[in-house]
Amino acid sequence: MLGAIIGDIVGSYYEVLEMEALKDHQKQKRSYEERIKILDSKTPLFLEKSSYTDDTVLTCAIANSLLQNEDYEKNLRYFGLKEINKGLDKYGRYPFGAGFIKWVKDEKIGDSYGNGGAMRISPVAYFAQDLEDVLLETEKATKPSHNTEEAIKGAQAVSTAIYLALNHHGKEEIEKTISELFAYDLFFDLSDLQHNYKFTARTCNSVPQAIYCFLISNSFEDALRKSISIGGDSDTIAAIACAISEAYYGIPENLKSQAYTYLPKEYRQIVKNFYEELTLIKALNEVNINDKSFLKYMRQNCKKYNLPKETGLWGCFINKDQNDIITGVRIIVPNIINTDTLLINIHEYTHAYEIYKRIGEKDNLNQEQEETKARQNEALYLKKIINQN
Ligand SMILES: [Mg+2]
Repeated sequence: MLGAIIGDIVGSYYEVLEMEALKDHQKQKRSYEERIKILDSKTPLFLEKSSYTDDTVLTCAIANSLLQNEDYEKNLRYFGLKEINKGLDKYGRYPFGAGFIKWVKDEKIGDSYGNGGAMRISPVAYFAQDLEDVLLETEKATKPSHNTEEAIKGAQAVSTAIYLALNHHGKEEIEKTISELFAYDLFFDLSDLQHNYKFTARTCNSVPQAIYCFLISNSFEDALRKSISIGGDSDTIAAIACAISEAYYGIPENLKSQAYTYLPKEYRQIVKNFYEELTLIKALNEVNINDKSFLKYMRQNCKKYNLPKETGLWGCFINKDQNDIITGVRIIVPNIINTDTLLINIHEYTHAYEIYKRIGEKDNLNQEQEETKARQNEALYLKKIINQN
């Protein structure tokens, strides 16, 4: 997710140059020279003029849908409208393309074949159960505004590449799977793209090029620089290449911290919540709690607070009907900021999982046994972490 945001922020400056070059042929040379300069590792990535754009806004909308277990369309419209109401961006542009603005305002059906579905899709790959789930969830997240075969296929290719990279597949395998599943030709020549690639927002002419830039890269930063060097819709090409690169290489800390300074508080918070949720999913997996439907359920039934451990506010609460039948479960836990707070989360999630499995049944939980299980999971997690280190 943050990979896509970094690509977007760094690419924003170059996209504007490319758009100016489209309108004015005199500016083509300048745009080419500027983007080739970025291949030099000494050229700064984050500039005064750099800013987040629609790629970031809608990636946050998708992440928020997943975190709140909410409808994608609702969040895409909410975040879209909110950003439109802020007015023009740093470059004096409208934050979204004309088609998307019309869709957000309900003046047009969502039938775009543009790369807007692919640029925002990265969070989906992190929460998916398996490849089938990746494809299905991607279709759901893309359809509201990009209900065309071309746009859905492009978004699925990106989320599939991220999913495979997250699951430690090599580049050869990623290339083979994407080529076969989506019939994309990923064979390009970097120098040829740098000279001849033309600006387009079409999915079928952006996604393969962006995936190629990831495939030929040797680090996150290298993918970022190479993807911008080819020109075109630079922020989106870089957002896609860097979203896959994040899953494959991870992101250098200095790039992460620089990117945060460009984000408004609301988006920073969503990014933080997203990675906190991933930390939790990973930790719960260590104690064999990996039921995706439970985790999804808990996203709506878990309240997190940023309070010290000593407040003792934390707990797991059973909802029951008048016949003592369990109807639901909710927990209150601290934000995960260190091992202590993570252990409290593991403890309460262990309780919640046992109750979740009994929804619809009479409450016959043995509290002592359940407490022992929760403590055992804390100990199991600590043991596994110590062994890993
Ligand atoms: Mg953009």
